[in-house]
Amino acid sequence: MKIKKRNFIKYLFYCLVISIGPHFRVLSIENSKIINPNLTDEQKKIMFKEGTERPGTSELLFEKRKGSYHCANCNAKLFNSVAKYDSGTGWPSFSEAIPGAFKTKIDYSYGMKRIEYHCAKCGAHHGHVFFDGPGPGGKRYCNNGLCLIFVPN
Ligand SMILES: [Zn+2]
Repeated sequence: MKIKKRNFIKYLFYCLVISIGPHFRVLSIENSKIINPNLTDEQKKIMFKEGTERPGTSELLFEKRKGSYHCANCNAKLFNSVAKYDSGTGWPSFSEAIPGAFKTKIDYSYGMKRIEYHCAKCGAHHGHVFFDGPGPGGKRYCNNGLCLIFVPN
């Protein structure tokens, strides 16, 4: 009877780990920290709780000028405007990133296996990378517009 009780406690502990595990995943991103004190709640939700902005809502979808795109949190340079293109998805899209700008990890949420990427400097989540892009590398960086700041040349 004692053993059964212990197994039951183990089972409860196991359930606890399963239920709170996904929250720890968010916290475990290396060096993830808020640097810009002016980030809005929506930006924080995307960058540090891996949220996603509603498609078609970013003003950057219509940005056609030459320049560069920087991290809204730490200001690291992430994309050049020459890599930007209209993917039709409703999120700002880029065929390539500045080398070393991002770190990637596998995201299994929503029953899909996707590659999400984070700013290498501050750890903020920016979006997911897919392999149906138009460039020679075939990549499509699908970036939340709220995580980016455009700096014209
Ligand atoms: Zn950053």
